[in-house]
Amino acid sequence: MREITKITPIEYLKGIGPKKGELLRKDLEIQTIGELLHHYPFRYIDKTKFHKINQVQGQMNGVQIIGRLVDIKEMGEKRSRRLVGRLADDTGTLELVWFRSITWIKKNLQLNAVYIIYGKPHMFNQTLSITHPEIEPYRNTDKLVGDRSLQPVYSTTEKLKRIGLDAKGMQRLQETAIKTVYKYLEETLPSYLLSQYKLMPYSEALRAIHFPQSQEELQEAIRRLKFEELFFIQLKLLHNKQLNTIRFKGHLFSDVGEKFHAFYQKKLPFPLTNAQKRVIKEIRKDTRTGAQMNRLLQGDVGSGKTVVALMTMLLAIDNGYQACMMAPTEILAQQHYNGIVELLGADLANIALLTGSTTAKNRKIIHAGLESGEINILIGTHALIEDKVQFKDLGLVIIDEQHRFGVEQRAKLWRKNKIPPHMLVMTATPIPRTLAMTLYGDLDISVIDELPAGRKPIKTLHYFEKSRLRVFGFMKEEIRKKRQIYVVYPLITESEKLDLLYLEAGLENLAQEFPLPEYKISIVHGKMTPKEKEFEMQRFVKGETQIMVATTVIEVGVNVPNATVMIIENAERFGLSQLHQLRGRVGRGAEQSYCILMSGNKLSKEGKERLSTMVRTNDGFEVAEVDLKLRGPGDMSGTQQSGVLELKIADLAQDQNLLASVRQIVINIFDEDPKLQLPKNELLLKYINVKPSAITWDKIS
Ligand code: ADP
Ligand code: MG
Repeated sequence: MREITKITPIEYLKGIGPKKGELLRKDLEIQTIGELLHHYPFRYIDKTKFHKINQVQGQMNGVQIIGRLVDIKEMGEKRSRRLVGRLADDTGTLELVWFRSITWIKKNLQLNAVYIIYGKPHMFNQTLSITHPEIEPYRNTDKLVGDRSLQPVYSTTEKLKRIGLDAKGMQRLQETAIKTVYKYLEETLPSYLLSQYKLMPYSEALRAIHFPQSQEELQEAIRRLKFEELFFIQLKLLHNKQLNTIRFKGHLFSDVGEKFHAFYQKKLPFPLTNAQKRVIKEIRKDTRTGAQMNRLLQGDVGSGKTVVALMTMLLAIDNGYQACMMAPTEILAQQHYNGIVELLGADLANIALLTGSTTAKNRKIIHAGLESGEINILIGTHALIEDKVQFKDLGLVIIDEQHRFGVEQRAKLWRKNKIPPHMLVMTATPIPRTLAMTLYGDLDISVIDELPAGRKPIKTLHYFEKSRLRVFGFMKEEIRKKRQIYVVYPLITESEKLDLLYLEAGLENLAQEFPLPEYKISIVHGKMTPKEKEFEMQRFVKGETQIMVATTVIEVGVNVPNATVMIIENAERFGLSQLHQLRGRVGRGAEQSYCILMSGNKLSKEGKERLSTMVRTNDGFEVAEVDLKLRGPGDMSGTQQSGVLELKIADLAQDQNLLASVRQIVINIFDEDPKLQLPKNELLLKYINVKPSAITWDKIS
């Protein structure tokens, strides 16, 4: 019996000593043979085409020729010492020249043997030659790795190249690996899936991804491996989701009570949109079942997620539970607190705010109030995750702007109560469907796909520096109309100090153009204390200042409906979702709002596409799709969640359809066989917690 979870270190392979082993581990994170085989080629050189020598011309880029080595000799001395061979086919001859490794090459070449050579030809003194060609004996008999018409090219590093693991060396290593373990490669997918979806067997696919015999075979291998990769991610996510509903009893929010009604009928200052109503219904349904809710709430900037969160909290209170809401920054937590206190008034709930800058004294009072149950709603930053914060009976956790928090923080909040609280996770901006399915595949998803009525779409414009004066003029006009303006500077460097310099230079410019006492400017940046930030924010909120100059600290959530202009400096340096999030700070009132993107003249192709996407559309879901295409999933979600996204072969931007169908396939499997007990699903249970790439063998012969 082989033990599949045992590690087979990479050193088991012939040709890998401690030195290469260590470097493979360090540079490429390849520890085992299994991981080596899942280090896929990133491209292939097409060697299906052969040239006859009389077709070869000096300006060609690369040619492949089969020929006989009819002559080989050393020529020249010292610096001009070289090895010159002559390759012949039935149409002519060609020179092969080596300046380095002469002795070694000479020893390994055989006069009159047939070789395949590949290289870039050039014409010199009427003679056609190739310098340092790739050369290997012609043989077409190796069944496993075939004739290698499509040559795999692997990513490697300078250090690895120096110890022989260059392109060729990596190829040879993979060849050894596949030959060594091929017969041990076990199928990872049930056979009914293989036949139903016409998938290549696992061992075949692994062999073919490295050594494809044809384009068609390569495509099939890629399809199979992508399928498998996405399949096991979904299997695990949906399995967890299912376990949660079975395993965790949830609090029962059986009643819509007095507070919910009082708020809805007397205090809510606007009618809910249909989308908001629908989502509240979905949440009601979830929290009534007796199982624990895990729901992701997606909605564009300004779609009104906060009021949905608030009404869910009232539902919790009506049923005798406490609720808490976590936001990523102090500004945002403070703002949620202010907004919610204002909406609810003092009589409906006892609300507390807990952040990093809450004084020790107040902290004690809050801790006591939470434990006694006197406080119904706690709003705060990650300060509320701390172990010292204990609730009497926490029934609901809301996480705002989830992309700022890691999965671990979610889990910690989860453990705050004996019976885990219901969880409502809200995104700051929409995330693409495929990313949602992968990052939050264990959650149910609600979408607010409608903005409150009466919002005028924000006009987005892109200007270069030469239009600066026009922009200033426009700002003055808006201020004359009593509107307010944001001016945002990017995080240009890693150093906050330097960013401050950019901001200060801009500020100086602005202060000249907008002098006191007519104009007043607020400033908020990362170097300020929370108190100072809050003070400056409040001046702007109250309308005491007309311009708010800020770094990206204001990116998320800030809500000042009278602000109608968002000016983003060096806009080309921002990511798309950040731009969209910033734009969402305006357009919150009834007035026409504007987002002005200022950029330098030199724009990268990607920078151009980002800015033109912003100008083209206000739709956050569309922006998110472009963002995914441009940046890839890793960058989009931030480092905290990268674990799930270490995709080796599938691509969330390109493989949307495949992912959707794979997810459906997994859903169907769980519908039919919730516990994966059917014999035909045996393999799924076996692999659900072990990635196929992590599977290794303890014995190989
Ligand atoms: P986000 O979804 O970005 O968190 P908010 O919850 O901050 O959006 O809501 C944005 C603004 O829209 C707030 O000023 C809020 O009071 C207002 N709002 C929310 N729902 C409605 C609605 N149904 N009708 C009118 N205004 C609404
Ligand atoms: Mg919000």
